[in-house]
Amino acid sequence: MKLVYFDVSALLVMIILLAVVIYKKMLRGNINRYFLVLLCLSIVTTLVDIWAVMLDNGSAGYPYSKYIAHSLYLLLHNATTPVFILYCTALTDSWFVGKHRYLVKGLLWLPLSVVTVLMVINLRMPLIFYLDEAEHYSRGPWFPILYVLAAIYVAFGLVKVLKSWRYFDIGRWVALFSGIGFMMVASVVQFLLPELLVEMLAGALALLFILMMVQRPEELIDNETGLFTFTAFMNLMYHAENRSRNKKLILISVTNYKRIHMKLSFEQEKVLGFGLSDMLFEYTKNFHERAEIYHLHNGRFVVVLKEDEPSIVVVSIAKQIHEMMKKPFSVGTTEVELLPSVCMLKFPKDVGDADSLMHFIEDIGKNIRTDEVFFARDVFRKERYDILLEIDEILERAIRERKFKVYYQPIYSVDEQAFRTAEALIRLYDDKYGFIPPDLFIPAAEKSGAILQIGQIVLDQVCEFIASEEYRELGLHYIEVNMSVVQCMEENLVDEVMDTFDRHHVSAGDVNLEITETAVSDEQQVMDRNINNLFNEGVCFSLDDFGTGYSNIHRIASLPLSIIKLDKTLVDESGRQSMQIVIENTVKMIKALGMKIVVEGVETEQQLTQFISLRCDYIQGYYFSKPLPRDEFVEFLLDKAG
Ligand code: C2E
Ligand code: CA
Ligand code: CA
Repeated sequence: MKLVYFDVSALLVMIILLAVVIYKKMLRGNINRYFLVLLCLSIVTTLVDIWAVMLDNGSAGYPYSKYIAHSLYLLLHNATTPVFILYCTALTDSWFVGKHRYLVKGLLWLPLSVVTVLMVINLRMPLIFYLDEAEHYSRGPWFPILYVLAAIYVAFGLVKVLKSWRYFDIGRWVALFSGIGFMMVASVVQFLLPELLVEMLAGALALLFILMMVQRPEELIDNETGLFTFTAFMNLMYHAENRSRNKKLILISVTNYKRIHMKLSFEQEKVLGFGLSDMLFEYTKNFHERAEIYHLHNGRFVVVLKEDEPSIVVVSIAKQIHEMMKKPFSVGTTEVELLPSVCMLKFPKDVGDADSLMHFIEDIGKNIRTDEVFFARDVFRKERYDILLEIDEILERAIRERKFKVYYQPIYSVDEQAFRTAEALIRLYDDKYGFIPPDLFIPAAEKSGAILQIGQIVLDQVCEFIASEEYRELGLHYIEVNMSVVQCMEENLVDEVMDTFDRHHVSAGDVNLEITETAVSDEQQVMDRNINNLFNEGVCFSLDDFGTGYSNIHRIASLPLSIIKLDKTLVDESGRQSMQIVIENTVKMIKALGMKIVVEGVETEQQLTQFISLRCDYIQGYYFSKPLPRDEFVEFLLDKAG
């Protein structure tokens, strides 16, 4: 009697696995797809095995059914191994490339073809198995050939996996090898004790183990959208980097995502996330074998294409995605307009390494803006990302070695027809990289917290200047100092600022702090308290970058602001008629609130006359002067006054 219980257990385990796979939406992508095929194949094999055993254990009289059942079982069982190899190939991303790829692919199916031929011959000649007079299943003289062929497959698979051993962590190794180990032990047991049908159970357990250790679904697939996650993307990129295989990527960044996101409710936000994912998914479905979609975060998506995808195809996909995403998108009852930025990139060729790639992706839409689909190689400046990779050390060194210098940009008072204030702007000269722009290092310093020290350095230098003899001769009313949001949220900001003034014998009215609008945050209360307390101590505030991003009129009216600074982007567009109306009315509104206006980034005489005629109070920009080192700034003002 053959024992069917092992097979039944195997079947139960595999059905549970199938339920998990479907529930967790592990259906997209090559790794998941091959796992699914492997699982389904094993389920069918087990069912056929159970059928064969029932026939064997039952009464005589069904010789044909027995032949079919056993042949089918052996065939299916042998097909499992090549599918397992394909799974390993997907897992290690070691697709068959190179000029011998068709040969290798052919070889993969050769043993299985041999088995198929043998099974057909077996119908006439009792080589693999036969039914004796009592219709009992017995192994034929060539039966061991099946084992030899299976061994060839296992060796093939091992070589494939071993070649990529470096890209695997311990967990994956243990799982894959114990999987193969289970199968081998089970084969030996079943070879020696044919009544114990343990092979399928071993297979089921191996699959269970692999699903738990290797697949790690929660890391790879976003349960909600069914897209691959950020972690999955990083894994893939590190992998591609190590192997120097040039993946073709299409990076998509919804540049106004944050702004849209602030206006939406949780529910709408979810709908938007789903909608975008579905749109991309539906679109790339046509090439599902070749394209995989990753959802990073903050409205950033990546389509990963195979390395041999022709460039024309990549460009056309990128353009179509761009067109598709520009269309108004309905989220429930509201419609949102997305501003997508789409970039094509070969990785690692175009950007070098995965960390630079991450910085680059963050830059798209922020520092790299364009309305056209573009190539990374046209905008990627290696130096920038080299700096970003090292930025924390660079800042530490600069603080230690006192490398920060404050420059001053004069600000012209329209009423007084003279320069009456200036903005302090920080400069960093690094021995290795030269001047590093603040737009690059300030955000990094905000992330690392170094901004607190840097802010203190700036305030110290400014106060030292204000307290100096030469400053008094310049006739300036005050200096504008930039204050990062991170500084504004510090609990002891007020004490630190006031201490600095005291130390330099500077009064609160000598400095104007420039702050920027921010989204509502947990720490907003701290920020508001700081601003109000400093205001009560006599410090005035300017609102920087007005006209960019999210304008909360409520908030502007509730903060003690003396000055609003119109952002350069408004000035750049001031030639357009519709923009003129916006600017005119904005200026009226600010004046009605009793605040003064500084116009930033004025570069031409035409802009100057335009903003003067709009009755703006102060003008700042290259038209008058770039930011200057302290000595040159003093010289500039003395020169203008004299
Ligand atoms: P911001 O506060 O908006 O500063 C104005 C920027 O516009 C400065 O760039 C200035 O050099 C530039 N600018 C002024 N006039 C013109 C013009 O006519 N044309 C053009 N194209 N640009 C003009 P900068 O110095 O590179 O600073 C960039 C940003 O870095 C600043 O933007 C500010 O957000 C930040 N930053 C600079 N210094 C400090 C600082 O001491 N502390 C903090 N927290 N942030 C700072
Ligand atoms: Ca500023
Ligand atoms: Ca500004």
